[in-house]
Amino acid sequence: MTAYFPGGVTGYLYDRLARFDIGEDDTLTAQLATLGYAPADVGTAILSHLHEDHIGGLPRADRRRRCWCRPPEWAELHRPGPELRGFLRNHIQLPGLKWHQVSPEPTRDPALAPFTESLDVMGDGSLMLLPTPGHTAGSVSLLVRRVGSPPLLLAGDLTYGAEILQRGQLPGVGDRRLLAESSRKVLALAAAAARPGRAARPRPDGRPAAAGQLTPGGCGGRPTPKGHDMDIDRREPVQLGERTQWIRIRAANARNPLLLLVQMGPGLPMINEVQAFGRALSLEDDFTVVYWDQRGCGRSLRSADATRELSLEAMTGDTERLLALLCDRFDGPAVVAGFSMGATIAALAAAR
Ligand SMILES: [Zn+2]
Repeated sequence: MTAYFPGGVTGYLYDRLARFDIGEDDTLTAQLATLGYAPADVGTAILSHLHEDHIGGLPRADRRRRCWCRPPEWAELHRPGPELRGFLRNHIQLPGLKWHQVSPEPTRDPALAPFTESLDVMGDGSLMLLPTPGHTAGSVSLLVRRVGSPPLLLAGDLTYGAEILQRGQLPGVGDRRLLAESSRKVLALAAAAARPGRAARPRPDGRPAAAGQLTPGGCGGRPTPKGHDMDIDRREPVQLGERTQWIRIRAANARNPLLLLVQMGPGLPMINEVQAFGRALSLEDDFTVVYWDQRGCGRSLRSADATRELSLEAMTGDTERLLALLCDRFDGPAVVAGFSMGATIAALAAAR
């Protein structure tokens, strides 16, 4: 870890002040493996900021990976003496690693107030990048909006604990005025999320939603043709055997029965057709609909060996595994329906 300290007097002082003990089980590769992923599965890495203790996994990253940071953070690297401020260029600007400077855009999403700028990472409102400068000029936080659980804010080094933030204490490093301003916004965001009506919106059937359930604005849902808000609208990876595949779940009422749709194919994605399906069939009004990019297509194509095995047997197996996973998660039976060859796969999986 000493390689992550700058040279000279500063490095000498750092070495006296800090000791890092990172075991083999704590590495990025090992931690991803516990979730069933390899570094190659990661398409985008978002860095809260570029201090030396936040960039240690980069050499292990797949070099095709995109890394995101905000322009003010990148500018820090090019000011004189970045090492003295904890920015080690030789560990950040690695050969082949693609750095993208991303800027949050103006937003009027009331669920993000008082933040007026954000970046919707996945395009479905589930991951929102929020500028929280102070610790460094380009520090960002990532708001993770989950169905059935309270939202979660990954705040980088804005603070070192929720209690510290609530006490109004500011960490030692950074611009005090900006730290105070970002901390105030985060506390206001947390207070709003905890208020009934924001986080716990009543369902269309009148029953209260689970605490922390996302609002339609919160999960990026839009009214269906019948005018319903979406109770659930999220895109997420699922682990089916060795492979990571992607689904999008949409429902006007999360208590409606589960419906898994199997696209005709093979090789035809479905997640990108969600709006068209919604307009034509409005299935979301009566079902919790699961749209699925099967192996070898769409978002699921990102898996390193996605196209190695494309057979009826393998795709039926995937369907079976996905059904089991969904029944388990939603605690009930599922209906599976398919189009063309998807119907064959759906029937085979259902028969098993
Ligand atoms: Zn830091």
